Amino acid sequence: MFNNSYVPGLDKGKGLYFLFVKSESKTSGGLPARPVLTSYYKSDHFKRRPYDPYNVYTSPNEAILCSDSSQSMYAQMLCGLLMRHEVLRLGAVFASGLLRAISFLQNNWKELARDISTGTLSSRIFDPAIKNRMSKILTKPDQELAEFLVGVCSQENWEGIITKIWPNTKYLDVIVTGAMAQYIPTLEYYSGGLPMACTMYASSESYFGINLKPMCKPSEVSYTIMPNMAYFEFLPHNHDGDGAAEASLDETSLVELANVEVGKEYELVITTYAGLCRYRVGDILRVTGFHNSAPQFKFIRRKNVLLSIESDKTDEAELQKAVENASRLFAEQGTRVIEYTSYAETKTIPGHYVIYWELLGRDQSNALISEEVMAKCCLEMEESLNSVYRQSRVADNSIGPLEIRVVQNGTFEELMDYAISRGASINQYKVPRCVSFTPIMELLDSRVVSAHFSPSLPHWSPERRR
Ligand code: AMP
Repeated sequence: MFNNSYVPGLDKGKGLYFLFVKSESKTSGGLPARPVLTSYYKSDHFKRRPYDPYNVYTSPNEAILCSDSSQSMYAQMLCGLLMRHEVLRLGAVFASGLLRAISFLQNNWKELARDISTGTLSSRIFDPAIKNRMSKILTKPDQELAEFLVGVCSQENWEGIITKIWPNTKYLDVIVTGAMAQYIPTLEYYSGGLPMACTMYASSESYFGINLKPMCKPSEVSYTIMPNMAYFEFLPHNHDGDGAAEASLDETSLVELANVEVGKEYELVITTYAGLCRYRVGDILRVTGFHNSAPQFKFIRRKNVLLSIESDKTDEAELQKAVENASRLFAEQGTRVIEYTSYAETKTIPGHYVIYWELLGRDQSNALISEEVMAKCCLEMEESLNSVYRQSRVADNSIGPLEIRVVQNGTFEELMDYAISRGASINQYKVPRCVSFTPIMELLDSRVVSAHFSPSLPHWSPERRR
Protein backbone atom coordinates (compact mmCIF):
# COMPACT_ATOMS: atom_id res chain seq x y z
CA MET A 1 0.00 0.00 0.00
CA PHE A 2 1.20 3.55 0.64
CA ASN A 3 3.81 2.14 3.02
CA ASN A 4 6.02 1.64 -0.01
CA SER A 5 6.65 5.34 -0.28
CA TYR A 6 7.79 5.40 3.36
CA VAL A 7 9.80 2.18 3.31
CA PRO A 8 11.60 1.68 0.00
CA GLY A 9 12.22 -1.74 -1.49
CA LEU A 10 9.12 -3.55 -0.27
CA ASP A 11 8.75 -5.04 -3.74
CA LYS A 12 12.03 -6.92 -3.24
CA GLY A 13 10.68 -9.30 -0.64
CA LYS A 14 7.64 -10.68 1.17
CA GLY A 15 5.30 -9.98 4.04
CA LEU A 16 4.84 -12.58 6.77
CA TYR A 17 1.24 -11.88 7.76
CA PHE A 18 -0.63 -14.14 10.16
CA LEU A 19 -4.16 -14.05 8.78
CA PHE A 20 -7.04 -16.26 9.86
CA VAL A 21 -10.63 -17.04 9.07
CA LYS A 22 -13.15 -17.70 11.83
CA SER A 23 -15.83 -20.34 11.65
CA GLU A 24 -19.22 -19.05 10.66
CA SER A 25 -22.24 -18.97 12.91
CA LYS A 26 -25.96 -18.27 12.63
CA THR A 27 -27.96 -15.53 14.29
CA SER A 28 -31.07 -16.57 16.24
CA GLY A 29 -33.05 -15.52 13.15
CA GLY A 30 -31.09 -18.02 11.03
CA LEU A 31 -28.92 -15.58 9.11
CA PRO A 32 -25.28 -16.52 8.52
CA ALA A 33 -22.87 -14.36 10.49
CA ARG A 34 -19.14 -14.02 10.06
CA PRO A 35 -16.53 -11.33 10.68
CA VAL A 36 -15.76 -9.01 7.79
CA LEU A 37 -12.20 -10.25 7.28
CA THR A 38 -13.38 -13.84 7.01
CA SER A 39 -15.75 -12.73 4.24
CA TYR A 40 -12.93 -10.89 2.54
CA TYR A 41 -10.41 -13.75 2.66
CA LYS A 42 -13.03 -16.15 1.31
CA SER A 43 -13.94 -13.81 -1.55
CA ASP A 44 -12.50 -13.86 -5.05
CA HIS A 45 -11.15 -10.36 -4.40
CA PHE A 46 -8.62 -11.96 -2.09
CA LYS A 47 -8.29 -15.46 -3.48
CA ARG A 48 -7.77 -14.32 -7.07
CA ARG A 49 -5.96 -11.10 -6.40
CA PRO A 50 -3.67 -10.13 -9.25
CA TYR A 51 0.06 -10.40 -8.64
CA ASP A 52 1.40 -7.29 -6.97
CA PRO A 53 5.14 -7.26 -6.19
CA TYR A 54 4.50 -4.99 -3.20
CA ASN A 55 2.06 -7.38 -1.63
CA VAL A 56 3.51 -10.85 -1.79
CA TYR A 57 2.73 -12.93 1.28
CA THR A 58 4.66 -15.89 2.60
CA SER A 59 1.40 -17.51 3.75
CA PRO A 60 -0.36 -19.51 1.05
CA ASN A 61 -4.12 -18.97 0.66
CA GLU A 62 -4.73 -22.60 1.62
CA ALA A 63 -3.21 -21.94 5.07
CA ILE A 64 -5.08 -18.66 5.57
CA LEU A 65 -8.40 -20.22 4.57
CA CYS A 66 -8.16 -23.26 6.87
CA SER A 67 -10.61 -22.70 9.72
CA ASP A 68 -8.62 -24.91 12.11
CA SER A 69 -6.50 -22.14 13.60
CA SER A 70 -3.81 -24.51 14.83
CA GLN A 71 -3.12 -26.07 11.42
CA SER A 72 -3.38 -22.65 9.80
CA MET A 73 -0.88 -21.10 12.22
CA TYR A 74 1.53 -24.04 11.90
CA ALA A 75 1.60 -23.81 8.12
CA GLN A 76 1.90 -20.02 8.09
CA MET A 77 4.77 -20.12 10.59
CA LEU A 78 6.55 -22.88 8.69
CA CYS A 79 6.38 -20.88 5.45
CA GLY A 80 7.61 -17.77 7.26
CA LEU A 81 10.60 -19.72 8.60
CA LEU A 82 11.42 -21.30 5.26
CA MET A 83 11.42 -17.87 3.61
CA ARG A 84 13.02 -16.04 6.51
CA HIS A 85 15.52 -14.04 4.46
CA GLU A 86 12.82 -12.81 2.08
CA VAL A 87 10.59 -11.46 4.85
CA LEU A 88 10.66 -7.64 4.93
CA ARG A 89 7.70 -7.05 7.27
CA LEU A 90 5.75 -9.02 9.81
CA GLY A 91 2.15 -8.43 10.60
CA ALA A 92 -1.28 -9.45 11.77
CA VAL A 93 -4.44 -7.39 11.96
CA PHE A 94 -4.10 -6.60 15.65
CA ALA A 95 -1.02 -6.69 17.88
CA SER A 96 -2.52 -9.56 19.88
CA GLY A 97 -2.45 -11.76 16.75
CA LEU A 98 1.25 -11.24 16.18
CA LEU A 99 2.04 -12.02 19.82
CA ARG A 100 0.00 -15.16 19.55
CA ALA A 101 2.19 -16.22 16.65
CA ILE A 102 5.33 -15.64 18.74
CA SER A 103 3.87 -17.69 21.56
CA PHE A 104 3.00 -20.44 19.05
CA LEU A 105 6.63 -20.45 17.93
CA GLN A 106 7.73 -20.73 21.56
CA ASN A 107 5.61 -23.83 21.99
CA ASN A 108 6.25 -25.46 18.63
CA TRP A 109 9.73 -24.61 17.39
CA LYS A 110 11.05 -28.14 17.97
CA GLU A 111 8.41 -29.66 15.72
CA LEU A 112 8.84 -26.95 13.11
CA ALA A 113 12.62 -27.44 13.11
CA ARG A 114 12.12 -31.20 12.75
CA ASP A 115 9.94 -30.68 9.66
CA ILE A 116 12.59 -28.40 8.18
CA SER A 117 15.44 -30.80 8.92
CA THR A 118 13.61 -33.80 7.40
CA GLY A 119 11.82 -31.95 4.61
CA THR A 120 8.53 -33.57 5.60
CA LEU A 121 5.35 -32.07 7.02
CA SER A 122 4.22 -32.95 10.54
CA SER A 123 1.28 -35.35 10.79
CA ARG A 124 -0.60 -32.71 12.77
CA ILE A 125 -1.38 -31.10 9.42
CA PHE A 126 -4.17 -33.14 7.88
CA ASP A 127 -6.06 -30.47 5.93
CA PRO A 128 -5.74 -31.80 2.33
CA ALA A 129 -5.45 -28.35 0.72
CA ILE A 130 -2.63 -27.28 3.06
CA LYS A 131 -0.84 -30.62 2.67
CA ASN A 132 -0.98 -30.36 -1.09
CA ARG A 133 0.31 -26.79 -1.16
CA MET A 134 3.03 -27.42 1.42
CA SER A 135 4.34 -30.35 -0.63
CA LYS A 136 5.38 -27.71 -3.18
CA ILE A 137 6.96 -25.40 -0.61
CA LEU A 138 8.66 -27.84 1.77
CA THR A 139 10.45 -29.83 -0.90
CA LYS A 140 13.75 -30.82 0.65
CA PRO A 141 15.53 -31.05 4.02
CA ASP A 142 17.36 -27.93 5.14
CA GLN A 143 19.65 -28.99 7.96
CA GLU A 144 21.34 -25.62 8.23
CA LEU A 145 18.09 -23.72 8.76
CA ALA A 146 16.86 -26.31 11.26
CA GLU A 147 20.07 -26.01 13.30
CA PHE A 148 19.89 -22.23 13.20
CA LEU A 149 16.33 -22.33 14.54
CA VAL A 150 17.16 -24.73 17.33
CA GLY A 151 20.11 -22.54 18.28
CA VAL A 152 18.05 -19.35 18.45
CA CYS A 153 14.83 -20.73 19.92
CA SER A 154 16.42 -22.86 22.64
CA GLN A 155 17.88 -19.76 24.27
CA GLU A 156 16.11 -18.59 27.42
CA ASN A 157 16.11 -14.97 26.37
CA TRP A 158 13.76 -14.22 23.47
CA GLU A 159 14.45 -10.50 23.40
CA GLY A 160 14.73 -9.39 19.77
CA ILE A 161 13.77 -12.86 18.49
CA ILE A 162 11.91 -11.36 15.51
CA THR A 163 14.97 -9.68 14.08
CA LYS A 164 17.13 -12.72 14.82
CA ILE A 165 14.89 -15.05 12.83
CA TRP A 166 13.77 -12.52 10.22
CA PRO A 167 16.84 -10.28 9.94
CA ASN A 168 15.54 -8.19 7.02
CA THR A 169 12.34 -7.08 8.74
CA LYS A 170 11.90 -3.34 8.38
CA TYR A 171 8.76 -2.86 10.43
CA LEU A 172 5.79 -4.58 12.09
CA ASP A 173 2.41 -4.06 10.43
CA VAL A 174 -0.11 -4.27 13.27
CA ILE A 175 -2.74 -2.11 14.91
CA VAL A 176 -1.44 -0.93 18.27
CA THR A 177 -3.88 1.91 18.94
CA GLY A 178 -6.88 1.73 21.25
CA ALA A 179 -7.12 -1.44 23.34
CA MET A 180 -4.09 -2.84 21.51
CA ALA A 181 -1.76 -0.24 23.03
CA GLN A 182 -1.34 -2.59 25.99
CA TYR A 183 0.80 -4.86 23.77
CA ILE A 184 3.35 -2.26 22.63
CA PRO A 185 6.02 -3.01 25.28
CA THR A 186 5.87 -6.76 24.59
CA LEU A 187 6.13 -6.22 20.85
CA GLU A 188 9.08 -3.89 21.39
CA TYR A 189 10.74 -6.59 23.48
CA TYR A 190 10.37 -9.33 20.87
CA SER A 191 11.24 -7.10 17.91
CA GLY A 192 14.15 -5.18 19.41
CA GLY A 193 12.22 -1.93 18.93
CA LEU A 194 11.21 -2.20 15.26
CA PRO A 195 8.80 0.52 14.08
CA MET A 196 5.12 -0.42 14.21
CA ALA A 197 2.89 0.74 11.38
CA CYS A 198 -0.77 1.25 12.21
CA THR A 199 -2.24 1.72 8.79
CA MET A 200 -5.99 1.47 9.08
CA TYR A 201 -9.00 2.13 11.21
CA ALA A 202 -11.97 0.03 10.17
CA SER A 203 -14.84 -2.12 11.40
CA SER A 204 -17.20 -4.79 10.15
CA GLU A 205 -19.77 -2.09 9.42
CA SER A 206 -17.53 0.16 7.34
CA TYR A 207 -13.97 1.18 6.57
CA PHE A 208 -13.29 4.45 8.38
CA GLY A 209 -9.84 5.85 7.85
CA ILE A 210 -6.17 5.48 7.10
CA ASN A 211 -3.01 6.70 8.75
CA LEU A 212 -1.21 8.97 6.31
CA LYS A 213 2.02 8.75 8.33
CA PRO A 214 2.20 5.00 8.84
CA MET A 215 5.71 5.00 10.27
CA CYS A 216 4.98 7.48 13.06
CA LYS A 217 5.15 6.49 16.73
CA PRO A 218 2.05 4.62 18.00
CA SER A 219 1.26 7.48 20.37
CA GLU A 220 1.14 9.92 17.44
CA VAL A 221 -1.17 7.93 15.17
CA SER A 222 -4.10 9.83 13.67
CA TYR A 223 -6.51 8.35 11.16
CA THR A 224 -7.80 10.45 8.29
CA ILE A 225 -11.44 9.70 7.65
CA MET A 226 -12.20 8.61 4.10
CA PRO A 227 -15.42 10.49 3.38
CA ASN A 228 -16.49 8.18 0.55
CA MET A 229 -16.68 5.07 2.75
CA ALA A 230 -19.93 5.97 4.54
CA TYR A 231 -21.80 9.05 5.68
CA PHE A 232 -20.00 10.20 8.80
CA GLU A 233 -21.50 12.26 11.62
CA PHE A 234 -20.15 13.03 15.06
CA LEU A 235 -21.85 13.24 18.41
CA PRO A 236 -20.00 15.55 20.80
CA HIS A 237 -18.80 13.36 23.63
CA ASN A 238 -20.05 14.02 27.10
CA HIS A 239 -17.11 13.69 29.49
CA ASP A 240 -19.34 13.15 32.49
CA GLY A 241 -19.76 9.55 31.54
CA ASP A 242 -20.98 7.26 28.82
CA GLY A 243 -24.34 6.69 30.45
CA ALA A 244 -25.61 10.22 30.03
CA ALA A 245 -24.74 10.38 26.36
CA GLU A 246 -26.17 6.93 25.73
CA ALA A 247 -29.82 7.83 26.38
CA SER A 248 -30.81 8.82 22.86
CA LEU A 249 -29.27 10.08 19.70
CA ASP A 250 -30.13 13.74 19.58
CA GLU A 251 -30.05 14.51 15.87
CA THR A 252 -29.77 18.23 16.42
CA SER A 253 -26.46 17.83 18.19
CA LEU A 254 -24.84 15.75 15.43
CA VAL A 255 -21.90 17.50 13.80
CA GLU A 256 -21.09 17.09 10.09
CA LEU A 257 -17.73 15.69 9.01
CA ALA A 258 -16.26 19.00 7.89
CA ASN A 259 -17.45 20.90 10.98
CA VAL A 260 -15.74 18.99 13.77
CA GLU A 261 -13.36 21.05 15.89
CA VAL A 262 -9.73 20.31 16.60
CA GLY A 263 -9.15 19.14 20.17
CA LYS A 264 -12.74 18.04 20.78
CA GLU A 265 -13.92 14.49 21.34
CA TYR A 266 -16.77 12.87 19.47
CA GLU A 267 -18.57 9.59 19.21
CA LEU A 268 -18.60 8.21 15.67
CA VAL A 269 -22.02 7.80 14.00
CA ILE A 270 -22.28 6.25 10.53
CA THR A 271 -24.83 5.70 7.82
CA THR A 272 -23.61 2.96 5.51
CA TYR A 273 -24.23 1.82 1.96
CA ALA A 274 -25.34 -1.53 3.40
CA GLY A 275 -28.23 0.16 5.17
CA LEU A 276 -27.25 1.09 8.71
CA CYS A 277 -28.79 4.43 9.55
CA ARG A 278 -27.06 6.68 12.08
CA TYR A 279 -25.42 3.70 13.72
CA ARG A 280 -23.34 4.44 16.80
CA VAL A 281 -20.11 2.54 16.33
CA GLY A 282 -19.14 2.95 19.99
CA ASP A 283 -15.76 4.60 19.40
CA ILE A 284 -14.65 7.88 20.97
CA LEU A 285 -12.29 9.92 18.78
CA ARG A 286 -10.43 13.19 19.25
CA VAL A 287 -9.87 15.57 16.32
CA THR A 288 -6.17 16.23 15.75
CA GLY A 289 -6.29 18.17 12.46
CA PHE A 290 -7.42 18.06 8.85
CA HIS A 291 -6.07 16.65 5.61
CA ASN A 292 -7.64 19.00 3.06
CA SER A 293 -11.20 19.03 4.41
CA ALA A 294 -11.15 15.51 5.84
CA PRO A 295 -10.74 15.46 9.61
CA GLN A 296 -8.06 13.41 11.31
CA PHE A 297 -8.72 11.62 14.57
CA LYS A 298 -6.82 9.99 17.35
CA PHE A 299 -8.59 6.86 18.57
CA ILE A 300 -9.31 7.49 22.24
CA ARG A 301 -11.22 4.46 23.41
CA ARG A 302 -14.22 2.29 22.92
CA LYS A 303 -17.26 3.29 24.87
CA ASN A 304 -18.25 1.02 27.70
CA VAL A 305 -15.63 -1.62 27.05
CA LEU A 306 -13.97 -2.75 30.21
CA LEU A 307 -12.01 -5.76 29.16
CA SER A 308 -10.54 -6.79 25.87
CA ILE A 309 -7.77 -9.25 25.04
CA GLU A 310 -8.22 -9.37 21.27
CA SER A 311 -11.52 -9.16 19.35
CA ASP A 312 -13.58 -9.72 22.53
CA LYS A 313 -15.21 -6.69 24.11
CA THR A 314 -16.72 -7.09 27.55
CA ASP A 315 -18.71 -4.20 28.97
CA GLU A 316 -19.61 -3.34 32.52
CA ALA A 317 -23.10 -4.85 32.33
CA GLU A 318 -21.75 -8.18 31.07
CA LEU A 319 -19.11 -8.32 33.76
CA GLN A 320 -21.68 -7.50 36.41
CA LYS A 321 -24.00 -10.26 35.16
CA ALA A 322 -21.16 -12.76 35.12
CA VAL A 323 -20.22 -11.94 38.72
CA GLU A 324 -23.86 -12.26 39.77
CA ASN A 325 -24.27 -15.63 38.08
CA ALA A 326 -21.09 -17.00 39.63
CA SER A 327 -21.89 -15.75 43.10
CA ARG A 328 -25.14 -17.72 43.10
CA LEU A 329 -23.01 -20.83 43.43
CA PHE A 330 -22.22 -19.99 47.05
CA ALA A 331 -25.16 -17.76 47.96
CA GLU A 332 -26.70 -20.56 50.03
CA GLN A 333 -23.84 -20.56 52.48
CA GLY A 334 -24.55 -16.89 53.10
CA THR A 335 -21.44 -15.55 51.38
CA ARG A 336 -21.50 -12.56 49.05
CA VAL A 337 -19.13 -10.79 46.67
CA ILE A 338 -19.06 -7.35 48.22
CA GLU A 339 -16.75 -5.72 45.71
CA TYR A 340 -15.02 -6.67 42.53
CA THR A 341 -12.84 -5.25 39.84
CA SER A 342 -11.09 -6.68 36.82
CA TYR A 343 -7.92 -6.57 34.81
CA ALA A 344 -6.94 -7.78 31.33
CA GLU A 345 -3.73 -9.73 31.99
CA THR A 346 -1.76 -9.64 28.76
CA LYS A 347 1.79 -10.22 29.95
CA THR A 348 1.27 -13.91 29.40
CA ILE A 349 0.20 -15.09 25.96
CA PRO A 350 -2.63 -15.83 25.47
CA GLY A 351 -3.88 -13.14 27.82
CA HIS A 352 -6.72 -13.77 30.23
CA TYR A 353 -9.28 -11.98 32.37
CA VAL A 354 -8.44 -11.54 36.05
CA ILE A 355 -11.31 -10.70 38.39
CA TYR A 356 -10.56 -9.53 41.94
CA TRP A 357 -13.22 -10.46 44.48
CA GLU A 358 -13.69 -9.35 48.04
CA LEU A 359 -15.98 -11.76 49.84
CA LEU A 360 -18.03 -11.41 52.97
CA GLY A 361 -19.22 -14.42 54.94
CA ARG A 362 -22.31 -14.73 57.10
CA ASP A 363 -20.33 -13.83 60.23
CA GLN A 364 -19.01 -10.64 58.59
CA SER A 365 -15.56 -12.17 58.23
CA ASN A 366 -13.56 -13.46 55.34
CA ALA A 367 -15.61 -16.19 53.76
CA LEU A 368 -14.21 -19.61 53.09
CA ILE A 369 -15.21 -21.13 49.82
CA SER A 370 -13.77 -24.42 48.67
CA GLU A 371 -11.31 -24.54 45.79
CA GLU A 372 -13.80 -26.68 43.88
CA VAL A 373 -16.59 -24.08 44.13
CA MET A 374 -14.23 -21.24 43.25
CA ALA A 375 -13.10 -23.09 40.13
CA LYS A 376 -16.76 -23.54 39.21
CA CYS A 377 -17.28 -19.81 39.72
CA CYS A 378 -14.52 -19.07 37.20
CA LEU A 379 -16.19 -21.31 34.65
CA GLU A 380 -19.64 -19.90 35.40
CA MET A 381 -18.31 -16.40 34.73
CA GLU A 382 -16.95 -17.56 31.39
CA GLU A 383 -20.27 -19.21 30.52
CA SER A 384 -21.95 -15.86 31.20
CA LEU A 385 -19.70 -13.84 28.91
CA ASN A 386 -20.60 -13.15 25.27
CA SER A 387 -20.12 -15.46 22.34
CA VAL A 388 -17.06 -13.67 20.93
CA TYR A 389 -15.30 -14.24 24.28
CA ARG A 390 -16.29 -17.90 24.36
CA GLN A 391 -15.32 -18.41 20.72
CA SER A 392 -11.89 -16.95 21.45
CA ARG A 393 -11.55 -19.36 24.38
CA VAL A 394 -12.86 -22.48 22.65
CA ALA A 395 -12.22 -22.26 18.92
CA ASP A 396 -9.28 -19.89 18.72
CA ASN A 397 -7.44 -20.48 22.01
CA SER A 398 -6.62 -16.81 21.97
CA ILE A 399 -7.79 -16.16 25.53
CA GLY A 400 -6.58 -18.21 28.50
CA PRO A 401 -8.71 -19.49 31.43
CA LEU A 402 -10.40 -16.79 33.50
CA GLU A 403 -8.84 -16.24 36.92
CA ILE A 404 -10.49 -15.07 40.14
CA ARG A 405 -8.18 -13.62 42.79
CA VAL A 406 -9.81 -13.39 46.21
CA VAL A 407 -8.48 -10.44 48.23
CA GLN A 408 -8.44 -9.84 52.00
CA ASN A 409 -11.34 -8.04 53.62
CA GLY A 410 -10.92 -4.30 53.56
CA THR A 411 -8.89 -4.24 50.37
CA PHE A 412 -11.44 -2.23 48.42
CA GLU A 413 -11.64 0.28 51.23
CA GLU A 414 -7.88 0.69 50.96
CA LEU A 415 -8.37 1.20 47.25
CA MET A 416 -10.82 3.99 47.96
CA ASP A 417 -8.44 5.55 50.51
CA TYR A 418 -5.77 5.52 47.86
CA ALA A 419 -8.03 7.22 45.29
CA ILE A 420 -9.06 9.83 47.82
CA SER A 421 -5.45 10.50 48.72
CA ARG A 422 -4.92 11.26 45.05
CA GLY A 423 -7.77 13.74 44.94
CA ALA A 424 -10.95 11.71 44.32
CA SER A 425 -14.11 12.98 45.97
CA ILE A 426 -15.55 10.72 48.67
CA ASN A 427 -19.06 11.55 47.49
CA GLN A 428 -18.48 10.62 43.95
CA TYR A 429 -15.99 7.78 44.32
CA LYS A 430 -16.99 4.70 42.36
CA VAL A 431 -15.12 1.42 42.52
CA PRO A 432 -13.36 1.12 39.17
CA ARG A 433 -14.67 -2.03 37.51
CA CYS A 434 -11.45 -2.37 35.60
CA VAL A 435 -7.97 -1.42 36.76
CA SER A 436 -4.58 -1.08 35.11
CA PHE A 437 -2.74 1.63 37.08
CA THR A 438 0.40 0.00 38.53
CA PRO A 439 0.14 1.19 42.17
CA ILE A 440 -3.46 -0.06 42.31
CA MET A 441 -2.49 -3.40 40.80
CA GLU A 442 0.33 -3.71 43.32
CA LEU A 443 -2.04 -2.95 46.16
CA LEU A 444 -4.57 -5.53 44.98
CA ASP A 445 -1.96 -8.19 44.31
CA SER A 446 -0.36 -7.72 47.71
CA ARG A 447 -3.72 -8.55 49.32
CA VAL A 448 -4.54 -11.71 47.38
CA VAL A 449 -5.39 -14.68 49.61
CA SER A 450 -6.11 -17.22 46.89
CA ALA A 451 -6.18 -17.49 43.10
CA HIS A 452 -8.41 -19.79 41.07
CA PHE A 453 -8.65 -20.65 37.38
CA SER A 454 -11.40 -21.90 35.17
CA PRO A 455 -10.87 -25.69 35.00
CA SER A 456 -12.35 -26.26 31.54
CA LEU A 457 -13.67 -24.54 28.45
CA PRO A 458 -17.05 -22.79 28.42
CA HIS A 459 -19.69 -23.81 25.90
CA TRP A 460 -19.54 -22.34 22.48
CA SER A 461 -21.08 -23.55 19.29
CA PRO A 462 -20.65 -22.12 15.80
CA GLU A 463 -24.32 -22.84 15.13
CA ARG A 464 -25.85 -20.15 17.28
CA ARG A 465 -24.71 -16.76 18.46
CA ARG A 466 -25.99 -15.25 21.61
P1 AMP B 1 -15.13 -5.16 14.40
O1 AMP B 1 -16.49 -4.60 14.16
O2 AMP B 1 -15.09 -6.42 15.22
O3 AMP B 1 -14.41 -5.25 13.11
O4 AMP B 1 -14.33 -4.11 15.32
C1 AMP B 1 -14.27 -2.77 14.94
C2 AMP B 1 -13.73 -2.00 16.10
O5 AMP B 1 -12.36 -2.33 16.35
C3 AMP B 1 -13.74 -0.51 15.87
O6 AMP B 1 -15.01 0.07 16.06
C4 AMP B 1 -12.70 -0.07 16.90
O7 AMP B 1 -13.27 -0.03 18.19
C5 AMP B 1 -11.68 -1.19 16.84
N1 AMP B 1 -10.61 -0.80 15.88
C6 AMP B 1 -10.54 -1.04 14.57
N2 AMP B 1 -9.44 -0.48 14.03
C7 AMP B 1 -8.80 0.14 15.05
C8 AMP B 1 -7.63 0.93 15.15
N3 AMP B 1 -6.84 1.17 14.11
N4 AMP B 1 -7.29 1.42 16.38
C9 AMP B 1 -8.05 1.17 17.45
N5 AMP B 1 -9.18 0.46 17.43
C10 AMP B 1 -9.56 -0.06 16.25
